[in-house]
Amino acid sequence: MCGVIGYVGEKPCVELIFKGLKLLEYRGYDSSGIAVLEDSAISVIKSEGKLDKLEPLLSDLSQDATLGMGHTRWATHGAPTKVNAHPHREQGLAVIHNGILENYQDLKIELLEKGVRFQSDTDTEVFVHLLYQELAFVPDVRKALLKLTQRLRGAYGLGILSACDPEALYVVKQGSPLVLGVGDGENFFASDAIALVGHTRRVIFLEDGEMARISKEGVQVWNFQGEPVQKIPIVLDWSQAQAEKHGFRHYMLKEIHEQPSVIANTLDRAATVQSAGQLLDRLGVAGVDFFKFDRIQVTACGTAFLAGMVGKYVLESLLKVPVSVDLASELRYQAPCLNEKTLLIAITQSGETADTLASVKLARAFGSQVLSVCNMKFSSIARESTASLYMEAGPEIGVASTKAFTAMVLNLYLLALAVARLKEQISQEQFSGSLLSLRKLPPLVDQAVAGEARTLVLAQKVCEATNALFVGRGCSYPIALEGALKLKEISYIHAEGYAGGELKHGPIALIDKSMPVIAVVPRDRHREKMLSNVEEIRARDGWIIGVGAEDDNVFRSLCSEYLPCPQIDEEPLQAILSIIPLQLFAYNVAVLRGTDVDQPRNLAKSVTVE
Ligand code: GLU
Repeated sequence: MCGVIGYVGEKPCVELIFKGLKLLEYRGYDSSGIAVLEDSAISVIKSEGKLDKLEPLLSDLSQDATLGMGHTRWATHGAPTKVNAHPHREQGLAVIHNGILENYQDLKIELLEKGVRFQSDTDTEVFVHLLYQELAFVPDVRKALLKLTQRLRGAYGLGILSACDPEALYVVKQGSPLVLGVGDGENFFASDAIALVGHTRRVIFLEDGEMARISKEGVQVWNFQGEPVQKIPIVLDWSQAQAEKHGFRHYMLKEIHEQPSVIANTLDRAATVQSAGQLLDRLGVAGVDFFKFDRIQVTACGTAFLAGMVGKYVLESLLKVPVSVDLASELRYQAPCLNEKTLLIAITQSGETADTLASVKLARAFGSQVLSVCNMKFSSIARESTASLYMEAGPEIGVASTKAFTAMVLNLYLLALAVARLKEQISQEQFSGSLLSLRKLPPLVDQAVAGEARTLVLAQKVCEATNALFVGRGCSYPIALEGALKLKEISYIHAEGYAGGELKHGPIALIDKSMPVIAVVPRDRHREKMLSNVEEIRARDGWIIGVGAEDDNVFRSLCSEYLPCPQIDEEPLQAILSIIPLQLFAYNVAVLRGTDVDQPRNLAKSVTVE
């Protein structure tokens, strides 16, 4: 789950690789390293900690080198130390790795028995020694890699630099993402296209079971059987500008502020739409046979899973089919009731989440159609799906997901409307009326984002808390879960989300004066029940923070603090409006507590390992 980048061309590459790592740092940031090759000699720098610890060491590398690669790590095997940082090396060889070699213990025992000495605790080092031994036997990197792929199990995106072939870099892909960047007289590889867009937009996404030799003249791809594979580069449309902070202190804040434009762009897809077919076409999912399924299985991880919970409310109420939502890490190991009459909806920002990808493959094996909701075009999950609904929210760099969540919810709503109309579960009038009322949303999203200052005032009061509860009902229940997730992941305050009705089944025991309880109570059909829950908290001296309508004086009067939130009638759209103050609140609490908002400890953005 790390970031990797490699360059070969005519430019000095040290700075270029370092800048690429900066763009990839969201994938992992506990240690890093760079290897360059010049005159057949490999030099390596490594450091524990974030990339700013590596920066002073850049001058130790040859500034004239034009071939090299870098790694920013999210440790899976071995502590985040300098020794365990990548690249790992042997004489004439350096290797970087994204993923997990699952059979590394067996391979390590074999190597230890042969007298090999290990420097690090990583799984990756096993591969380095195996490759070194192969190359000592036959100094042909391609042949050695082909042989070794037969022995490795698990997930790997490997970058290899070898003095046996000093003009080239090699990469091998199985399970972890790898993209090649095709330039003029220069070529690249990276774990994520975002690192390449400043250099080239022509990219090749490698498939599992493929490897490549990358020289300045071009790239050659083979499958693990050694057969050449012809690849045509595709052209990306993301600009580098989108991956910059634009004056915001953090990516997360910038991304929260991008939500009005993301929502407006998403709604542009529905503008002037007359029919369900047209909308499905605009969403890019017309290839799914929506008449075939009698059940929907939603799967995702983290924030995307919570968007999927809102999706369940929408899909069930509009389509009148049973919808289950399961964490992908659970679904893939259950005995799931998947068959050709199931539609699997896989939700993922990155399109690379390992467990979601595994669930997608499982569903395909059972004959289910797969509709993925992704942000990253051409990602592994998009490529495995029957059809992919691209959110087009632009790159999300902040580890805590914000704009991707609201884009997921809105796209699921559009999808549900279109399919419900297609299957005549709603009338043409309802369909057109719902699309029309969507126009109310963008100014309300603007308003929600503009409420930032109030969330700061609240954050000042709450930032010393050690625990927090979030409660809500209906579509506000996943919002309570997402609000708690945002707070815990970036501020490290322990926070839990509960359905309002569950309070008395346990969590109410936690309530006292010092425990903030954030109650999400929009003006919807659950309001009265929620007000009863709020009264229950009050009766136990709870510290109630209300998130509700500006003019809901009844609710406001029950709360110690109040965050007004714009209101809209449609519950799933209200979820979009309700989460924005909670995102801003979590952000401000984290800033006040001095945590690293964009790179919270122990976390990385896209979880490409199990
Ligand atoms: N398993 C490797 C390690 O722990 C790579 C981790 C990663 O993908 O960042 O070093």
